[in-house]
Amino acid sequence: MPHQRTPVPSPDELILGINQGNTTSLARAITLVESDNPEHLSKAARVIEACLKSRPETMRIGITGVPGVGKSTFIETLGMTLIEAGHRVAVLAIDPTSTLSKGSILGDKTRMTSLSSHPKAFIRPSASGESLGGVARKTREAIILCEAAGYDIILVETVGVGQSETAVHSMVDFFLLLKLAGAGDELQGIKRGIIEMADAIVINKAEGANVARAKQAQTEFSRALHLYPPKSSEWQPKVLTCSAIENSGIAEIWDMIKQYFLSVQKDGYLEAHRSAQNRQWLMQHLEDVLKSEFFGSETLKKQLDGWVIKVENHEVSPFKAAELLLADYRKELK
Ligand code: GDP
Repeated sequence: MPHQRTPVPSPDELILGINQGNTTSLARAITLVESDNPEHLSKAARVIEACLKSRPETMRIGITGVPGVGKSTFIETLGMTLIEAGHRVAVLAIDPTSTLSKGSILGDKTRMTSLSSHPKAFIRPSASGESLGGVARKTREAIILCEAAGYDIILVETVGVGQSETAVHSMVDFFLLLKLAGAGDELQGIKRGIIEMADAIVINKAEGANVARAKQAQTEFSRALHLYPPKSSEWQPKVLTCSAIENSGIAEIWDMIKQYFLSVQKDGYLEAHRSAQNRQWLMQHLEDVLKSEFFGSETLKKQLDGWVIKVENHEVSPFKAAELLLADYRKELK
């Protein structure tokens, strides 16, 4: 018999379930938020709004690194350390390619065996979507839902496709870059922007014969980080080494993260930073929606094609053409 999916619970049922820490309700609420069905929009908005009210003290931590660097092994080991320290951990992922690959390579439960079966952990693979913006929005809302369900540490993983690190950076409090020790080429082939975003660089697989190279990389990165201007958080980014597989260096990383949160909570930066992120998301979302409404209109698209030719042929100024198109857009709205 085909599996019959139970109907979507009402927003009130979902809110109640989430407040009780019920993972089924949480998972269904995230599915609702991820849905592109316009009917689900207002329901999702109600759930989010209710969840926003709780505002518990949480830590949002972004983790990035190339495939194979050890992100899932690291999250598994760090996640278990956090749970042993009394926390509840949610793992989310941002992977804009998940639609194409028909399944995410991130946040895969099978790769985090202890964590995924632990009652104090919640793991959710990346939302799928056409655009990074859409996937990021869904993940951001999932953070709110997880926090309302009692997860006080949210780990957001990304593999760094396109601008996905920037998207993760804009929704977390602390951003951690995982690296491997290379042969003296640590600073090559790494996007400058990512180093600038990082609050910590962690060199993974630092065990056995690799320790010396990892220490060397640590020195090089530390030196390089000092050349960057100070962060608005006034936090000096740290470089540490670890072996996720052998669980060495993980406790030190957790100590560093706690140190960061202590300092940004005390001086009010954490709160101010989250407010600034909210503001940024509002502006970004407005921009996205306006753009998609304008460019999504078939009539306007046809007209635009015509104007493009005229503009290219210097028959009309680009600004005049834009004004005329916008006038038509406003008429369409009426
Ligand atoms: P991801 O693609 O970044 O999520 O990386 P994975 O966590 O899947 O790890 C990729 C490979 O590296 C796997 O074979 C892991 O077992 C291995 N790995 C991860 N962490 C370590 C580590 O600390 N030391 C060693 N030697 N191998 C590791």
